[in-house]
Amino acid sequence: MAVSKRVVLHFPPRLVGQPIIYRLVKDYDLVLNILKASVTPKEEGLLVVELSGDRKGFDEGIQYLTDVGVKIQSLGQDIVRNEARCTHCGACIAICPSGALSLDRVTRLVNFNEEKCTACELCVLPCPPRAMEVHF
Ligand code: SF4
Ligand code: SF4
Repeated sequence: MAVSKRVVLHFPPRLVGQPIIYRLVKDYDLVLNILKASVTPKEEGLLVVELSGDRKGFDEGIQYLTDVGVKIQSLGQDIVRNEARCTHCGACIAICPSGALSLDRVTRLVNFNEEKCTACELCVLPCPPRAMEVHF
């Protein structure tokens, strides 16, 4: 299944100049359409891109970006957890490629870290009570 999403990529100064985009194209077979590029006064790189590819390459590419320290922000939509619906069953944890959903080992509740969420929507359908909602 093909996926195409617009995302903002924030590169910390240590990653500016690294061949990260090259790896995305070569290793994950993704197509990048750069919509905006800039370097902030703090030397942080900022790219607004449309990222396209097959589902597997897309998810692995997002995981790669997260692993190397690129902050990813989705454009155009947000994933919101409906707290009243979530039963903390944990079904979404292993599905989430960015680590936005995790188990709190003390409370045994499932945490949702919106900062890490890339709005990939992978958790939406597998959630039994449909607690993960797409907001536009
Ligand atoms: S799958 Fe749905 S109900 Fe289960 S923990 Fe995740 S968000 Fe909550
Ligand atoms: S949409 Fe769901 S699966 Fe995707 S990054 Fe966000 S919380 Fe994780």
